[in-house]
Amino acid sequence: MPVSLTTRFAPSPTGLLHLGHAYSALFSFEAARKCSGRFLLRIEDIDFTRCREEFEAGILEDLAWLGLKWEEPVRRQSEHLLAYAAVAEGLRERGLLYPCFCTRRDIQREIERAGGAPHGAEGPLYPGTCRGLSEEERADRIEAGEDFALRLDLGRALAEIGKPLTWHDLGRGEIPAQPELLGDAVLARKDIGTSYHLAVVHDDALQEITRVTRGEDLFEATHLHRVLQALLDLPVPEYHHHGLITDEEGRRLAKRDESETLRSLREAGESPKAVRERLGFDF
Ligand code: GLU
Repeated sequence: MPVSLTTRFAPSPTGLLHLGHAYSALFSFEAARKCSGRFLLRIEDIDFTRCREEFEAGILEDLAWLGLKWEEPVRRQSEHLLAYAAVAEGLRERGLLYPCFCTRRDIQREIERAGGAPHGAEGPLYPGTCRGLSEEERADRIEAGEDFALRLDLGRALAEIGKPLTWHDLGRGEIPAQPELLGDAVLARKDIGTSYHLAVVHDDALQEITRVTRGEDLFEATHLHRVLQALLDLPVPEYHHHGLITDEEGRRLAKRDESETLRSLREAGESPKAVRERLGFDF
């Protein structure tokens, strides 16, 4: 029996959906439909500083308009913050996370002082300022009410894993994971107590997702996601990082480009079929 496909679309309600999102969603939906697999929708709304309910409502409306159907109930990450906190706590107890008290400015200053920092996938790598603090200092600063994020101690994590990691990317083949491109990433932010990385890895495993389709702007994140899967002993889905959808002039479509949101296309009188066809889906 072939292992059946479970795919998902996991938007963050920080804006309306544009064509790039529609492509990801349609690709996942179609792949599952063709093999009688499952297609799930997950709302990644942990970042209360940027997510808005009206965007979530707009996303659901746009996806239904586009002809997608998904299983109910829809998982909303904001309803599971305790689960993510428990994962972070488990990693912390294993000595794999450490509290980081640095502000952005502290980090910048430290990088300047050190005469620069290696560049990673998301900018200069964290210079490790708080990695070496003693347990006593950590406890004192937390006790004193200082804000902190939890960072992955990547060196320890890789030592614990003890072997190179890879993932399979549809169309690209076997990809060696290079988590050093992200360094000691933040796994629990000061303000929201978790992070996209932690929540997405946790949920893809919990929901038994077998294929993750997302834009290639998230390709680099997968290096870190593989490390988390190895540390947490989670199954590894297949990945499909697709090229970004561009407009006629070849400009990348971002959430801020209002002209190409699904809503604006709909309001301009485009049919769902025309949008699907424009993205190469023929149903
Ligand atoms: N929630 C993420 C976003 O909207 C995508 C997560 C994923 O597909 O892994 O950018």
